[in-house]
Amino acid sequence: MSYKKWFDAHGSKHRVIMEKLTHLSDAEVIEYFRFENMVVNETDFCPLYAENKKCHDMEDLNCYLCACPNFRFNDQGFTKEGEKTLFSTCGIESPDGDQYVSENAIHQNCAGCLVPHRESYVRKVFDRDWFTIMKKVPCE
Ligand code: SF4
Repeated sequence: MSYKKWFDAHGSKHRVIMEKLTHLSDAEVIEYFRFENMVVNETDFCPLYAENKKCHDMEDLNCYLCACPNFRFNDQGFTKEGEKTLFSTCGIESPDGDQYVSENAIHQNCAGCLVPHRESYVRKVFDRDWFTIMKKVPCE
């Protein structure tokens, strides 16, 4: 699946959940997206929920910002680095970010970065429309 396909499908799932939460305040919405609630009440939101597994090993994981607003992708590739195509990067060059490098491709690796999953960060960039927060992510 391309990044763009995943991005659009995930944003649609987010929107469906938000349509159910119009009676909640912003703070209550953020609380609703805590892993412990989502894994029980929104089982289709993330494939890891089926195994009761977190994407990052942290206590207060919040799922509102999956994906990260700082992620940048281009399914056609940003540049060529030798034989490899660079498909994604981190817009803030997080020191906890890394790269997956294969024979032909370079992808941003966010496995070690907790930036978008902290509630303080979610509160800082919060908007009830996920696509608004993520507007800089697709670079097609
Ligand atoms: S490295 Fe961190 S801040 Fe950068 S895109 Fe990945 S999760 Fe977001």
